[in-house]
Amino acid sequence: MSGNARGKRKKGETSKTGRDEDASGSQGPPVKKARSTSVAKGKGKEKATKTPWPGYFNELYKIFKALNTVLAFCSSRKQLATTFPVVRSSVEALLKQPLDLQKVAELKALLPDVIKFAYIPQNELRVHESSQKRSKSPDYGSALTPRRELQGFDDNEHVLVLDFIEVKPKAKKLERLPVETLIPSPALTPAGVKKLIEIRNQRFETAVEELLQAAAECGETPDFLVQGAAREHIPVNPSTIKALASTSQTGPTQHKVPSPEERRSISEIIEELQNLDWYKEQIISRRTTEAREPTLGHLDTSPSENIMKALKATRNIDSFYSHQAAAINSLAKGSHVIVSTSTASGKSVIYQLERDRHATAIFVYPTKALAQDQKVAFQQLASACVGLEDLQVHTYDGDTPQDQRAGIRDNASVIFTNFDMIHASILPHEDNWRRFLKNLKIFAVDELHYYTGLFGSHVAFIMRRFRRVCAAVGNRHARFVSCSATISNPRQHMKNIFGVDDIDVITNDGAPSGPKDFIIWNPPLVDLAEPSLGRESTMLQATALMRYLMKNGIRTIMFCKIRKVCELAMKTLRTELTSEGRLDILEKVMAYRGGYSQSDRRRIEREAFGGHLLGIVATNALELGVDIGTLDAVIMLGFPFNVASMRQQSGRAGRRSRDALAILVTDSTPTDQHYVQYPDDLFSARSDDLVVELEGRAVLESHLQCAAHEMPLSDEDAQYFGELFHPICESQLVRDKQGWYHPNPKFLPHPAKHVSIRGVEEERYTVIDVTNSQTGGAAGSKILEEIEFSRALFERDQSFDRLTKEEWQFIHQGLTYIVREVSHDDRIAKLVRSDVNWTTKPRDFTDIDAAQTYRIKCVQGSPYYTYYGRVEIQTIVFGFFKLRGSQILDTVFLETPPFHRETMGWWVDIPRNTLNVMRSKGINAAEAIHAAEHAIMNCFAMQQDIKTECKVAAKEYRRDPSERKRPARLIFYDAQGQGSVAAARAFDHGWSSLSSFFCNYKQLPGSALMQDALERTEACDCENGCLRCTKSTWCKEGNEVSSKVGALIVLRSLLDLPLRLDEIPDAPYLIDPLMETVVEATQVRALDDIEVEPTT
Ligand SMILES: [Zn+2]
Ligand SMILES: [Zn+2]
Repeated sequence: MSGNARGKRKKGETSKTGRDEDASGSQGPPVKKARSTSVAKGKGKEKATKTPWPGYFNELYKIFKALNTVLAFCSSRKQLATTFPVVRSSVEALLKQPLDLQKVAELKALLPDVIKFAYIPQNELRVHESSQKRSKSPDYGSALTPRRELQGFDDNEHVLVLDFIEVKPKAKKLERLPVETLIPSPALTPAGVKKLIEIRNQRFETAVEELLQAAAECGETPDFLVQGAAREHIPVNPSTIKALASTSQTGPTQHKVPSPEERRSISEIIEELQNLDWYKEQIISRRTTEAREPTLGHLDTSPSENIMKALKATRNIDSFYSHQAAAINSLAKGSHVIVSTSTASGKSVIYQLERDRHATAIFVYPTKALAQDQKVAFQQLASACVGLEDLQVHTYDGDTPQDQRAGIRDNASVIFTNFDMIHASILPHEDNWRRFLKNLKIFAVDELHYYTGLFGSHVAFIMRRFRRVCAAVGNRHARFVSCSATISNPRQHMKNIFGVDDIDVITNDGAPSGPKDFIIWNPPLVDLAEPSLGRESTMLQATALMRYLMKNGIRTIMFCKIRKVCELAMKTLRTELTSEGRLDILEKVMAYRGGYSQSDRRRIEREAFGGHLLGIVATNALELGVDIGTLDAVIMLGFPFNVASMRQQSGRAGRRSRDALAILVTDSTPTDQHYVQYPDDLFSARSDDLVVELEGRAVLESHLQCAAHEMPLSDEDAQYFGELFHPICESQLVRDKQGWYHPNPKFLPHPAKHVSIRGVEEERYTVIDVTNSQTGGAAGSKILEEIEFSRALFERDQSFDRLTKEEWQFIHQGLTYIVREVSHDDRIAKLVRSDVNWTTKPRDFTDIDAAQTYRIKCVQGSPYYTYYGRVEIQTIVFGFFKLRGSQILDTVFLETPPFHRETMGWWVDIPRNTLNVMRSKGINAAEAIHAAEHAIMNCFAMQQDIKTECKVAAKEYRRDPSERKRPARLIFYDAQGQGSVAAARAFDHGWSSLSSFFCNYKQLPGSALMQDALERTEACDCENGCLRCTKSTWCKEGNEVSSKVGALIVLRSLLDLPLRLDEIPDAPYLIDPLMETVVEATQVRALDDIEVEPTT
């Protein structure tokens, strides 16, 4: 081996053995040898027992020999880069048959340590080219990529290299050899070349022998093993997929994806799907919704002719659907309006029909992207409307440059903004906004269902502040109008958020829709005869479906629950589509998720909207209505966290009269399998009421400080802020002689800055690709994304420098990167592109520990107590797995400092006696505690704002003694950190979701939640717990550790009720205490002078 390839090797200075150079595959799976490696190795030496090979391997050997000859020849010549196209043409000349990428990948799978088959950066080739003379040989000259071809290539270009890594002695010897001896002499003699060829052929024979032996022992078909493993070895061009397509001569372009107009109907496709050979009765439920004809409505007062013309010209609208008409009529007569209909039914047009030229309007969207999207659409409408062409329409958000803000304040007629800006920028400077506020006629909020829980509470108080300021400048006539997805309590939610009465609720959807199929797709058992082996991979089933749909011209979006899964799905699609030769499709698929830079997201949205994409793999970042054009199908990879999300996601497919498809591909978790068993629950379940907390003292106080700063508060303002107004003003604000309340000086000069309405902002790390940066500096580097520290940890993307950086991997757009360097001072992580085909998965655990008691209450009617106080959350990453699929390649242990956070929470300790009872009945305490916690949370209306310590199956069911013993305690904590109120509400009132209207909820003592949970669980007729009683869609561990019987014992004993143990048999044997993961809780240190509060 010599020439260019050698030159490259010298560059890789960290390499002692040459091994790390083939990042794409030397780590790669050799073909699975099914646990018999040692046997097989032994066998390899006994050449005597050679059995005849199956034809497949003889064929493969033929190819290998040809390749071997060509590469040996190349290596004896300097300056020949062994790029794939060059090698291929020579091999094909020898073989007199075409050489497929797939075949090379099969060879690579068989000999992962011998064959190098990977992309390397183009500029590395160029370096060698310029330092060496060009070959005159016409056959191989192209290998050096003539300059003319380089034109138009940027530094990102990669080339596919096919070469041998090296014939190495066994690893042990290797380490002792000096580096030089591993590099063959540059000028091999013909005899040397011949010898090299022989050694390599021998390597091949040995590998095949070993494989055949191993396969025979475990009864597998050797060809399939190789072909299966080869899929992982198809290299993917890191820079551009197109480059690969152009080198590929096997003409994948003969496939044609039908255009949206040509595509077949969904029902034809479902039909065909069921006849494919990989179909194994996965469809366990199919529900078809009939097409719906449009219902038109009549406007009481017709809009001006100019507006109608503009609507026709820009949106092709000349009539209104019934819900649109009803909403416009309501607004015209001065009511507030909420339109709650299925997604995408032309709702926004309702509040964009303002006719008065001097009026101003505010449009609020939950994200900047949505606001910018809608602003453009509105501007088009206005500029097409005679008389409104010069209407001043602006976005006003965090990205609006400071020097433009004054101009917008003074001149804008319409602004597109968000609640963050209203809270922190508009209201505190209301004096600058008086013109705008005085003339305000419409305040429109889209996606109202987005504002719920704690965030909803903040928004509700911001709206009260807003209405108060408007009233003060003489505007009491602004109308509030909202759109939301279908929610269970639209009127109440509207009232909660805006604090207004006189609301018209519109729920009849007049928009047409095409027929729609909803399918639940349960991955088949791996082995029908052996259910304990589990089900086939949800990810592979989902990506197979997606590929199938895209090939049929069905534009598909796949929703994944977390970012990491989104990237893995994208990576899987890349591998699969490449190995199928469907690069035409691959270049039309993209991942889209939170964390991507704004510009990347805009670009992907544009491409999607422009119809350039066939597929998008997304997180719920796309659940909200960013308009990405027409999609035909939605695949949900696992049940999203709740029914509302599922409806929202499945609503992303299908518009107007086209047919559409939604598929839920279920996981094997109890949550998902619940819906496999009870598919009707998905449709019949009423979405939970949206809850807005208006009685939370802490949140209200913070907004009163803001309000008093905007304009001093007087007693009259109680009308906006409710009963707690007076007591809070008296105790927390400053009253002057005239009786006005002013903010407490400790919040000045900017009280709004003390209130973070979306929870605490976290430290972010910037993730930079430095693959093409020679110096590691800014030149040539590219920002990939920004990532929150904790989020990164939870999503198991990375934990940066704590890990041996060479091995830690990061995925972006389904492409893999290796972490090279992390600077905690600058909050920067530098990565390089690397074609590794394994993934990393951290091994971590999170302890939720009660740290200090602030308040104590009695559990009503029982001798036990509940506690409220400070809670410490500690996550420790203790290592990671290197994985290929679900196969563990390596287990790495690490010592890392814990990641520590604090929040507030409430807890109940489980009495020793109860633990003893469970032990005697053979009930796993961890299962019981976890199930009881979810049963309680299921009864809590703000459950999305609290969390519990979810028990992890891998830890609870380990077979060796556990060192991590957890206290026997039900514990709940504020998900959003300190300053949240949910845990306190649960502790105080035991708010029940059955009575969640904020204004008339039952004031229940602290034990009410436990009482409710017990009643609900006892009434549930399921056997082992279900989502209606002791399991939860919010469980981040999929409810795998759960016991309904245990939960009943825990709840009954805490409420001091008889335990009803007669029907539970005694345990046949006692669990070894060493194996138990739960121990009796010790009481948590309390603040001084705490008294047990009376239960009210
Ligand atoms: Zn149940
Ligand atoms: Zn859980």
